[in-house]
Amino acid sequence: MSNLQGARIHITGVVQGVGFRPFVYGLATRLEITGWVRNTSAGVEIEVDGSPEALAAFIDDLRQKAPPMAHIDEFYVQECAPNGFSTFEIFHSEAIAEAFQPISPDVSLCSDCLRELLDPEDRRYRYPFINCTNCGPRFTIIEDIPYDRPSTTMAPFAMCPDCASEYGDPLDRRFHAQPVACPVCGPQVWLEVGGDRLAEREQALQTARQLLQEGKVLAIKGLGGFHLACDATNPESVATLRRRKLRVDKPFALMMPDLAIVEAHCYLEPAEHTAIEARQRPIVILNRRPESSVAHEVAPGQDTMGVMLPYTPLHVLLIKPEPGFPQALVMTSGNLSEEPIAIDNQEARERLSDLADAFLMHDRRIRTRCDDAVLRIFDGAAFPLRRSRGYAPYPVHLPWEMPPLLAVGPELKNTFCVTRGRYAFLSHHIGDLENYETLCSFEDGITHFETLFRVRPEALAYDLHPDYLATRYALARAEREDLPAIGVQHHHAHIAACMAEHGMAGEQPVIGVSFDGTGYGDDGAIWGGEFLLAYYRGYERPFHLAYIPMPGSEAAVRQPWRLALSWLARAGLEWDENLPPVLASSAEVRQIVRRQLELRLNAPLTSSMGRLFDAVSALIGVRQRINYEAQAAIELEARVDPDEQAAYHFAIGEDEVDPTPVIHAIVADLGAGLTIGRIAARFHNGVADMVDQVCRLMRDRYGLVEVALSGGVWQNMALLNRTVQRLYEAGFTVYLHRQVPTNDGGLALGQAVVAAHRLAFNP
Ligand code: ZN
Ligand code: ZN
Ligand code: FE
Repeated sequence: MSNLQGARIHITGVVQGVGFRPFVYGLATRLEITGWVRNTSAGVEIEVDGSPEALAAFIDDLRQKAPPMAHIDEFYVQECAPNGFSTFEIFHSEAIAEAFQPISPDVSLCSDCLRELLDPEDRRYRYPFINCTNCGPRFTIIEDIPYDRPSTTMAPFAMCPDCASEYGDPLDRRFHAQPVACPVCGPQVWLEVGGDRLAEREQALQTARQLLQEGKVLAIKGLGGFHLACDATNPESVATLRRRKLRVDKPFALMMPDLAIVEAHCYLEPAEHTAIEARQRPIVILNRRPESSVAHEVAPGQDTMGVMLPYTPLHVLLIKPEPGFPQALVMTSGNLSEEPIAIDNQEARERLSDLADAFLMHDRRIRTRCDDAVLRIFDGAAFPLRRSRGYAPYPVHLPWEMPPLLAVGPELKNTFCVTRGRYAFLSHHIGDLENYETLCSFEDGITHFETLFRVRPEALAYDLHPDYLATRYALARAEREDLPAIGVQHHHAHIAACMAEHGMAGEQPVIGVSFDGTGYGDDGAIWGGEFLLAYYRGYERPFHLAYIPMPGSEAAVRQPWRLALSWLARAGLEWDENLPPVLASSAEVRQIVRRQLELRLNAPLTSSMGRLFDAVSALIGVRQRINYEAQAAIELEARVDPDEQAAYHFAIGEDEVDPTPVIHAIVADLGAGLTIGRIAARFHNGVADMVDQVCRLMRDRYGLVEVALSGGVWQNMALLNRTVQRLYEAGFTVYLHRQVPTNDGGLALGQAVVAAHRLAFNP
């Protein structure tokens, strides 16, 4: 054996808790390579001896054939003299102080485990917590790194001899699967009503199915929190759930048992098919088939439905299709209104007892609350709306080194972001920081991320809005820990997030179109219809939507008729008795609104594009009062007549885009009896034309051809489609969000990148 050679290999990326070491072991055994492999806090280390041919094959396969959940970022090989190994072994994990590595998100049930779950001969037949190295909970159960069972919420479950032998056998597909468990030794389910255990294990599942079939509302403990579930084809059940949850008409997410059933209820493009089946198992927004039996109460006023497939073994057992059992379940977050989802059993009993008729509980603790992720497909690829379970805490990769930073994110749809090396770890969805529980979850999340990824921030980035709770947290902490705090303008952060996820260098500016509901401007006004010349360090604002006063301030957000009246007044048009926003309000309140406008009392200025959509929705009678964010605009989009080609024209001035002519044209079309669908379409066409024109102006003026689209308004597919089409035809390169949400859920990434570049120039 004189031709032996040695090698030391170091691999970073998502390489722990994903079956990487057994894969290495199998490979080494097959190629007759000796040595060892071990996890460290920084990745995976391997030292080996073998013939040069075997080593070459080994290294090739390591790179090419890694297990499905693994993601290799860096791969170092150092050749050395043979070490004299005689066997191949898997060593214990080694903690290295300050070292860090990405952590795997939770992964949906794999096909091997599904097969065992449904095999009466298998010892885990119908066991709701079956998992393996390729699937199961990860992020939601992990307390610290290195990822080993004692640092997960599986620690209290002592393995039985059978599980222990699978766990210890490098050739078993459960080798070092930290959440490994079976009916003998692992977590169990039970059904509770009014604090009493009604049924255990299999009987609990059967009774839960029975209750769902009878139309009851169930609280079901899942991976990242409790869901509230009911029969989605039963209008009364859905209405009951809405009443109890205090949720008037915001859409509910659905779970359907399999693809065939999804196809029976929704139209499914190939990319949507791929997305809904992906191991992240997001909620995918799909177009509803008119013949679907899903109750319209699930998503009132909308022609889409948010659908996901079962992602845990518990879901598979619960939703198994059978004659008489509902084809779709509502699976909405287990909370009252906008509170965070319940994750703890006792907490769920306290908070959900008025909402649920029964609880399907289990005794595996959830370490981190993690909502379902939501996306839609645009132009054949994912367009994320909420990046959470299945994605978080997988990092966004940046093509440059970042200092250790914390970006605290926005007020609504909060996510935060910690950075280190070339990674931006964007958090799971935290939610709206308006109640105490969410704020606690925000602070706990930050501590958890800083611990998991061993980040001690050197600076904090925050939104300029002085009243955002995240901003207050950042400023207080910066003061306490004597750290620099960097304020980042909201729309600058949106565009920077879009640039960063595309790995743009950010030295040269791009045309950034940030269309949004809100965002604190440098002049103290509420911005949201912004054309920016954006690079990471700073930005200019060559064009923006004209300012109008929002009479009643926040009340105008909830009551779009106020905005419609404001636009009518600005356009010099009468508040005609026949106009929908006039009909929707009392003469008395209109008098107050008139005074607010005249005296500029409680009527802050806004350039928000989101608010313009609201105003138009009210003006043409689609919606005057909203029950959830952006409802007026969403329902306006749903009315767009796809055959209408005409467009309204905006007046484009020196630095201002004025919708006044649009308002005039809409009122004229209303008077002429044009359908709501055609008016809605002309408005969408008009906004897309206007974006195209302003981008051309900026191209002529600055010689730029790259356009980045960001901000919540781009969730409007009718607008996005029309705009992107026009920009492509005009020869622009268009960047839109593919990894992080276009809404405020992606903001923290942009804050982090802007702050890093400012720091670099102001050391
Ligand atoms: Zn599995
Ligand atoms: Zn066991
Ligand atoms: Fe925003």
